[in-house]
Amino acid sequence: MSERRNSAMAAGAAGATQDEVRRHNVSTLLRYVHVHGPTSRAELTAAMQLNRSTIGALTADLTNAGLVREELPARGAGAGAGRPSLVVVPRSERVYVLAFDIGVDYLIAARVGLGGAVLDRRELYRPRGDYALDDVAAHLGRFTGEMLSRAASDAVCVGIGAAIAGVVRDADGLVRFAPNLGWVDAPLGETLSSVLSQHGIHAPVAVGNDADLGALAEHVRGAAAGATDAVYLTGEVGVGAGIIVGGQPLRGAGGYGGELGHMVVNPAGRLCRCGARGCWETEIGEKAILDAAGHPDGPRSTVPAVVAAAAGGDPRAAAAIRHVGEWLGIGVGNLVNIFNPEVVVFGGLLRDILPAVEQQLRTTLRTSGLVAPREQVRLVAPGLGPDSTLVGAAERAFGPLLSDPPGALAPLLAAAATPPADAW
Ligand SMILES: [Zn+2]
Repeated sequence: MSERRNSAMAAGAAGATQDEVRRHNVSTLLRYVHVHGPTSRAELTAAMQLNRSTIGALTADLTNAGLVREELPARGAGAGAGRPSLVVVPRSERVYVLAFDIGVDYLIAARVGLGGAVLDRRELYRPRGDYALDDVAAHLGRFTGEMLSRAASDAVCVGIGAAIAGVVRDADGLVRFAPNLGWVDAPLGETLSSVLSQHGIHAPVAVGNDADLGALAEHVRGAAAGATDAVYLTGEVGVGAGIIVGGQPLRGAGGYGGELGHMVVNPAGRLCRCGARGCWETEIGEKAILDAAGHPDGPRSTVPAVVAAAAGGDPRAAAAIRHVGEWLGIGVGNLVNIFNPEVVVFGGLLRDILPAVEQQLRTTLRTSGLVAPREQVRLVAPGLGPDSTLVGAAERAFGPLLSDPPGALAPLLAAAATPPADAW
């Protein structure tokens, strides 16, 4: 997280009212403990550059609202003269979101607590196919019911996030186009809302593109944490990307930006499923890898088998890996030249093949990338392993609560008929 987003607001700053200042600061404090975990008041005082009594008052607000609790530090921690500084701990078991990752051959549902802890999860793997929206929603509803039956009785769901490989309209979670599931204008947000309301969940639903959410997760708590400029690439059937510029996601005018898989790199190459010829995806995507290696497409990805065959000396598989490494290097060179990222994260299938192609990728990058930006970039696997997308869905779902804790919490507590918190 960037320092800019951590910055506290001083009273009277830029004409802000006392109430606005307090809301901003309570949001900053909650976001800090959500991202960094249990934090002492002394550390918060230093990080937010506010005085101790202000931190105490903000913490009291969050404690009364049931979002954090305070604990004495562990014996020996921060030992020294004087009173120990209380540790502010996010109440993961009470405040949670539901996160869903919808893949072409899998469904993952998780209950994720404030602070990022995965409290419970369910997974379903099945052959690839065009699964109907209602089928997907029914499975996710069933998973939700199972997970809710194990949640604490005072637990509050503050948001729902869903990730999907497709083009998504932010405002209402309409999936404009998800070719691998065969969805066109599928009302995923609305359908999830309806299914989950049957389980008593009335929190807002946010649907996002899988690569955008992977980038968000890696930026908040993964391999791109602390970076202001980063690219998250993911390959499944297609190739997608989430781009962080100046600490913020690159959206484009309609929110459809970042389709790096359809950057044309080889006009003499193959036709892409988007209709263009020679998109990057046609050189580094799953189909390209399997075709080059002579592996049949299966109900599950066999890309890891190609990597293993190449390592075992199969010349055709080795040639396929070299091909991908070279085209990855050409595309990454373009990204490095255009965005000057500090880090490029390789997710999805690209995570599986990165160790095998890394040397070729770096060799090609030496000629495709300009010297100055090339020297700055780190090429890495996701810090969150295979869970970047799921964690990103959770982070998106926490967004409204973290931006405005009192504003987001009040309607949820009212809907749940929970006794009102006395903080606001
Ligand atoms: Zn294309």
